Amino acid sequence: MYQIPLPAKYQNLSPAEASAIIRQCRDQLGSRLVILGHHYQRDEIIEQSDFIGDSLKLSQIAAAQKDAEFIVFCGVHFMAESADILSSGDQKVLLPDMTAGCSMADMADLDQVEQCWATLREHLGDDKTVIPVTYVNSTAAIKAFCGRHDGLCCTSSNCREVLASLWGHSPDAIILFLPDQHLGRNTAYQMGVPLDAMCLWDPYESDGGLVPSVLRRSRVILWDGFCSVHQGFTVEQIARVRAEDPTVRVIVHPECPFDVVQQADASGSTGYIVKAIEDSSPGTHWRVGTEMNLVNRLKDQMAEKGIQVQSLSDCPCLCETMYRIDLNHLAWLLAMLVAYVDSAGTSPLHNQIIVPDGIKQDAVKALNRMLNIG
Ligand code: SF4
Repeated sequence: MYQIPLPAKYQNLSPAEASAIIRQCRDQLGSRLVILGHHYQRDEIIEQSDFIGDSLKLSQIAAAQKDAEFIVFCGVHFMAESADILSSGDQKVLLPDMTAGCSMADMADLDQVEQCWATLREHLGDDKTVIPVTYVNSTAAIKAFCGRHDGLCCTSSNCREVLASLWGHSPDAIILFLPDQHLGRNTAYQMGVPLDAMCLWDPYESDGGLVPSVLRRSRVILWDGFCSVHQGFTVEQIARVRAEDPTVRVIVHPECPFDVVQQADASGSTGYIVKAIEDSSPGTHWRVGTEMNLVNRLKDQMAEKGIQVQSLSDCPCLCETMYRIDLNHLAWLLAMLVAYVDSAGTSPLHNQIIVPDGIKQDAVKALNRMLNIG
């Protein structure tokens, strides 16, 4: 994704100068503007956000803001795509930095997934039903693929309900789970699917590196994708924090590897982690396996309640692409929107995320099937 270089004026702003520009632009745009901030954004971006949440919640909020002509999504590219898919045709979704992508979403390329699908059809024949399910952390093209093939999306909070609903209707269906192998494996295992009934599709190997007999006996075919932030948590880290503090509670995101989730005290979505920590008793010590900006914010918020929160890892577990959204980019983007409005739409509008109509129609099917499950 191409990001035009920030004009010199915006490159060296102090936080106070950037905030002043943002405030002034917000005053001018009023209810025509809504700013959404993902949980993993830096604190100074969260402070500027009208709504904070995970990617799907923010997209649903965006769709509900009927007055907002401009939806500025402080997150990564696939999130802004979902907001564009769910928002109305006269709303414009913008990303402050076009280079804010997601390495996990990029691991499932449409051509590779189409190739996988053709191979599965060839090896499994018509007597096996295969249903594609994609984590919302995927490109619009992959969501559309699932929509076209009677599949659907899931989030880290509803993954279990989605799989249970599919197997409720089609008990023998094989799930092709995209693009995060860990969320798929951790969830299916919690539902009673043994590890040897899951296989890993490597898109860089012929036939995914799998023979037909393995495919036929699998309940879940996991795409070989992962989140580079969450894959960094290890069982050695858990052993170390438990040795240092036997009372510690370890909570991790299901994008973490299987062994880490197995050894943690609890595992769940970002919303689940926040609630579990907020609801815990004073004096509880938590070690958390998720993105660092969220962990540090929880640490500050919980200190006054006497709840101790630390990262599971001593290394900075930062989503580097999320981190690309900063006050300078936000100030530049809002100033550009003001210029666009003042010129009655004749000055350039950069960084708008537009999902083509054909992709949108199929992707919305996959999202709506998920939303209908709950
Ligand atoms: S935390 Fe992981 S899944 Fe989320 S945007 Fe960053 S790389 Fe993608």
